[in-house]
Amino acid sequence: MIEYLSDFLDFLMPRKCAVCGRELLYGEKIVCLRCNSDMPLTFFWSLRDNGMHERLYGRTGICHAVALFFFRNGSDFNNLVYKIKYSGRCDIGTYLGKILGKRLLESCRDITPDECRLVPIPLHPLKRLKRGYNQSMVITEGIRSATGIRIAANPVLRKRNTVSQTSIGIEEKWDNISGAFIARRSSGIWKDLSIKHIIVVDDVVTSGSTMEACCSVIKSLRPDIKIHAASIAFVE
Ligand SMILES: [Zn+2]
Repeated sequence: MIEYLSDFLDFLMPRKCAVCGRELLYGEKIVCLRCNSDMPLTFFWSLRDNGMHERLYGRTGICHAVALFFFRNGSDFNNLVYKIKYSGRCDIGTYLGKILGKRLLESCRDITPDECRLVPIPLHPLKRLKRGYNQSMVITEGIRSATGIRIAANPVLRKRNTVSQTSIGIEEKWDNISGAFIARRSSGIWKDLSIKHIIVVDDVVTSGSTMEACCSVIKSLRPDIKIHAASIAFVE
């Protein structure tokens, strides 16, 4: 019955590929088969010392970094990030989060769901209110459903409403984001020593300043914990 209803809805409102805009065929979800095969995948899940790990390691002490695809100038695949962030397309975030979650587990066999928590990069409450959702949380929901790893309940909060990282130069990014996060002391993850891994999730990693600022808050309270970074896109 649900299948018939969904076919009927497709007839009324044809679903479009979120990358190229072509009408999706039966069985295709979010991204058409052609775009799926053309996606500029990073393959960071099979390379431990990858470009994202290199960018973040010295500053954040992360042990492992995975992004799904490269964010490149003029690429149609950037539409996926823009649509998650600015067009309310939470379905794209969840869809890509599920794929990212499978890749994460594939590349880090020492993670067991019970010993791990997901931490989406928080948005400032005003920005969250304006957008209606936190895009990193939407992606994190996808990772949770693919891996069974639980989401930590707001261990880190955003105390300052920063300017969008994409609209400023590289040198200004650290100044803009530094000190933007604080720990919520009452969060269980600071005391629960059975938690040995934290996966910090963002939509896109550019200079790495946001990851750096958020991870430094986590490290200051739990220096023993292994931090992993995960994002949908990585700017080369
Ligand atoms: Zn397409």
